Amino acid sequence: MEFTPGRVFLLRVPEGEDLVAFVNRFAEKRSIKTAIVKGIGSLRNPVVGYYSEETKSYKRIELFGIFELLSLLGNVSLRDGRPFAHLHVTLGNANGDVFGGHLIEGEVFVTELYIQELLGEPLVRKDRGNNLSLWDEEKD
Ligand code: ZN
Repeated sequence: MEFTPGRVFLLRVPEGEDLVAFVNRFAEKRSIKTAIVKGIGSLRNPVVGYYSEETKSYKRIELFGIFELLSLLGNVSLRDGRPFAHLHVTLGNANGDVFGGHLIEGEVFVTELYIQELLGEPLVRKDRGNNLSLWDEEKD
């Protein structure tokens, strides 16, 4: 899919917000259908997922305490007609150990986000079974 750049947002997320819910709400309020999301900061008690091919579901990995959000990378596209954020994170603890995965939930301590809106025919997620909701594959 080809897009043209739309609006660009650089912002600090309010403390206490759930990061995934915030991005979904932010996009919905501004009618953002497709976007690239990047971020840094820190999260409290984040929960990340690891998709297991074996069980066809996400294993929940619960982390306790405040983690540096070393890197967040993801996107927004439409699922069931509404903006849906798909975010992956790399998290660091006080020892410098790194954890990561598909962000399921995480309370914002301090988080700075970059959101780049993309304009064009919106990308749409469709349920594919196996607990996966994916875009159509690109035909070259
Ligand atoms: Zn994911």
